Amino acid sequence: MISFSLSDEDSAIRDLAHNFAEKEIRPIISDREWLQDPTKRIPWEVVEEGSKLGFRTMTVPTEFGGLDCSLSTLILVLEELSWGDLGVAIIFEQTLKTVRRIARLGSIEQKSDLFPSFMKNNRYVMSGAVTEPAHGSDKILAPARVRLETRATRNADEWILNGTKHFITNGSEALLFLVTATKEPVEDDNWWTILMVPRETEGLEISRIHEKIAQRLSNNAEISFTDCRIPLKNELGTSDSRRLESPRFWMESNIEAAAMMMGTARAALESALYFARERIQSGKRIIEHQAVGLMFAEMKTMIESTNALILRAAWETEQPRPEYKLGSMAKYQAAESSFTVCRKAVEVMGGSGIMMEHPAQKYLRDSLSAFHFDGTQQITLLRIMNSLIDNS
Ligand SMILES: Cc1cc2nc3c(=O)[nH]c(=O)nc-3n(C[C@H](O)[C@H](O)[C@H](O)COP(=O)(O)OP(=O)(O)OC[C@H]3O[C@@H](n4cnc5c(N)ncnc54)[C@H](O)[C@@H]3O)c2cc1C
Repeated sequence: MISFSLSDEDSAIRDLAHNFAEKEIRPIISDREWLQDPTKRIPWEVVEEGSKLGFRTMTVPTEFGGLDCSLSTLILVLEELSWGDLGVAIIFEQTLKTVRRIARLGSIEQKSDLFPSFMKNNRYVMSGAVTEPAHGSDKILAPARVRLETRATRNADEWILNGTKHFITNGSEALLFLVTATKEPVEDDNWWTILMVPRETEGLEISRIHEKIAQRLSNNAEISFTDCRIPLKNELGTSDSRRLESPRFWMESNIEAAAMMMGTARAALESALYFARERIQSGKRIIEHQAVGLMFAEMKTMIESTNALILRAAWETEQPRPEYKLGSMAKYQAAESSFTVCRKAVEVMGGSGIMMEHPAQKYLRDSLSAFHFDGTQQITLLRIMNSLIDNS
């Protein structure tokens, strides 16, 4: 029998994340969001407090002091953090999924080298760097066909890394980057690899921080690699393990994105509902005008139905042969639902909806970002379509 009730442990961790979002994240947003210097917007005090509560290290294997937690638990936390602020949730999520990738693909030596210092440093965040100026959607749609410009050229005892990545989340703060690159010499279908590149590597430069209208408390950066010398031992996984892990990585990443978008949608619904229960027009509360009340009914239904799909997709990841397309479906639908809910939330507030003094406009901006990160809507649908054609 399928159950939607949470275990005591899951309820406790979700409540912990909710209280943290309410007390530590929400109060700092309005002051921080519009600071001119993007590096000053990073709420390090929140990252540190969240780390102390364990949110940064939830995907670290238990033998290194983490929780090795399931995706179903993780998305409860991410939704609450995003209810606080999407940018803050993204800082944690980018790190959590990068750690999970290392936990899955890394050797015992790599994990023993990395995880103790990661556990100790409450400001240790990570990045996954795939996207390049010339390769965005194509790398997500057909990873096996696209040869990235970033090159890892094999020397006798090291890799020489050259290239540029852009739009990279946590790019200006990460202490470790997982860089996807084309191997040289290319060995038939075994052409790509992932290198673990520490921030202090000579030749690594944060060449630009992109300004953006959403997720403003997290940074996206352009990173250049010029003749970076990376030890051979920093290669992550084998060509077989990387190929097997890749669809699982994207599925989980899409589900996490979906959960975060529903945190934003819920926050928008709640703020609009509060407004609509107070605001009087034509002698009654605006929510009692059927035209407005029906919009709330629609918003609530969208949130509940999308959440059910996300839970179904998360459950699927724990099956021995997961249907990967459920991750794409969850992300696609969450982006649509979140944007629609946030747009309606702004609309039902009349003029107040777009005033900066109300958070509704921020939720709308944040919800828009879901159409652009972790695969666009078109690419996400194409991935679903391709899996139907291939029956996979
Ligand atoms: C906030 C944010 C965070 C990000 N974080 C990271 C990160 O941490 N690491 C990382 O590696 N990347 C990151 N990205 C990059 C992100 O994955 C890409 O921006 C995204 O995949 C789209 O690629 P693109 O920007 O090059 O757009 P393009 O690929 O140029 O797409 C432009 C338009 O063309 C459409 N299109 C492209 N190809 C096709 C096709 N074959 N068929 C139909 N339509 C198509 C797209 O749907 C889109 O509408 C981030 C992006 C954002 C906005």
